[in-house]
Amino acid sequence: MPFIGHDTVNDKRVNILNYEDPRAIFKRGQIVCRYCKEELVIRGNSRISVPKIHFMHLSNECKGEYKHHPESPEHLFFKELLSRDLAKDLDEYSNARVELECPVDSIKRIIDVAFIFPNGWVVAHEVQLSAITPNELEERTNDYRKAGIDVTWWLGKQANTQKNRQWCYEKLGECHTIDYEKLVEHSAK
Ligand SMILES: [Zn+2]
Repeated sequence: MPFIGHDTVNDKRVNILNYEDPRAIFKRGQIVCRYCKEELVIRGNSRISVPKIHFMHLSNECKGEYKHHPESPEHLFFKELLSRDLAKDLDEYSNARVELECPVDSIKRIIDVAFIFPNGWVVAHEVQLSAITPNELEERTNDYRKAGIDVTWWLGKQANTQKNRQWCYEKLGECHTIDYEKLVEHSAK
């Protein structure tokens, strides 16, 4: 369930969150997936939905060669939240350009939220809510490292286990956890 699509009429990347009323702007069929070229349809409402309005593959599944993991509404919610708020909270990110769903061609992965610095550094923030093992975390982290990208993990729900937290502390020196229910409550205020 992406926020980003490709506008085939204007040949450009489109972030649906930048449009107040995307259904009035884009024609049916105008937006396709950047990876598999399938038509994307619009789901939700820009004002009242949690998660926010987003795109969906017509067949509900990306058939592109980039690695895809199922994304729940909660996953979408956190991606949007991190892309909006992290730079506000971290001074060091104030010069970086934030990119949601940023593809890394050399490893065929898509970063949830990437901070791209003017000097070429890229920091990835990955939201992980579905079950994952420390080995899988390590594999994905190593993939990003091969591409020269530093990763920060945000663990919630089934991914927020003692083993995974321990792995983060041991290998990365930090661990971030997220609580969906609390945040939705908070953001609804
Ligand atoms: Zn696709």
